[in-house]
Amino acid sequence: RFCLKNICSIQPILRFSKTERRTQVTKILDGKVFAKNLREELTQTVSALQKEYGEVPGLAVVLVGNNPASEVYVRNKGIQTKECGMRSFEHKLPSTIQQEDLLKVIYQLNEDPEVDGILVQLPLPDQIDAQKVLDTIDPAKDVDGFHIINAGRLTTGGEALVPCTPLGCLLLLKDHFGDLTGKDVVVIGRSNIVGKPMAALLIRESCTVTIAHSKSQDLKAICKRADILIAAVGRPEIITGDFIKKGAVVLDVGINRIPAPEKGEGKTKLVGDVAFEEAKLQAEAITPVPGGIGPMTIAVLLRNTIEAACRRRNWVYNL
Ligand code: NAD
Repeated sequence: RFCLKNICSIQPILRFSKTERRTQVTKILDGKVFAKNLREELTQTVSALQKEYGEVPGLAVVLVGNNPASEVYVRNKGIQTKECGMRSFEHKLPSTIQQEDLLKVIYQLNEDPEVDGILVQLPLPDQIDAQKVLDTIDPAKDVDGFHIINAGRLTTGGEALVPCTPLGCLLLLKDHFGDLTGKDVVVIGRSNIVGKPMAALLIRESCTVTIAHSKSQDLKAICKRADILIAAVGRPEIITGDFIKKGAVVLDVGINRIPAPEKGEGKTKLVGDVAFEEAKLQAEAITPVPGGIGPMTIAVLLRNTIEAACRRRNWVYNL
């Protein structure tokens, strides 16, 4: 049996077992473990929904073109959706597709009763107006939370589908702290995908939120006062140890591929926006890259799909 409250509201849910907590002496916030535990919980939820209603949520992913990174993301989303017991619908469209043909696919998915969530993999080719496509998705199926209606509901306190990456960050923070009331948080980055929804979520949690960005004056001084520092910039390791207040919690959203000659000629590696090794000496807890925020994003996408299904289909089931 499951409690919808746990997955559809943003409650402080303790997901690390006592053993996992004890072994976290370095206070590395392990998004991989957290996401795995979350997916297991979601799998149980889907199974309970199937028993109760005879149906399971469905997620449609639309991929335009053959960007290799996007293909990997879409494949992983499909695999994890099915592993969780949900239905996965993949729509692969040619990179030459015209806007109106892509919109037709979205209209069909909006009408399809078996589809609870629609995700259009970004980036889209130049001939397509991405915002127009995102705003064509039925807000009730907008599991990425990018539709202007969901963005508006998030900032005004309504029932929104919330962008996956910031919601993943919030779940990690709530797991670590429990209550976030009064925390001084600095979010670096003001994008619609990460920075702004992150700030909106934290305001809802009664944090004091500062958003820093490329035009901010004296970024170091701004960061230095944060109890919680969230970097979503896309610049490799620009946040060094001296930006971090002793004992702060640091979430690194950035994913940057840089050359790694130490691994061999032409090799590369992923790093975050935070210089991990020196930041670790200052921080009380920190997410690594890779293995921190990244793995949370798909798990939260699955969670959002279940949330969308429950709302759309009136599947309310409380203990
Ligand atoms: P974006 O380019 O849309 O926004 C970057 C933000 O950083 C901007 O608001 C800009 O003002 C700010 N910025 C740029 N240079 C700066 C500087 N020198 N000092 C302070 N602020 C600066 O990027 P985005 O989509 O928000 O993504 C940010 C990073 O997060 C990227 O590395 C991206 O790959 C990563 N990301 C990761 C996930 C995940 O699943 N982990 C999801 C989304 C994005």
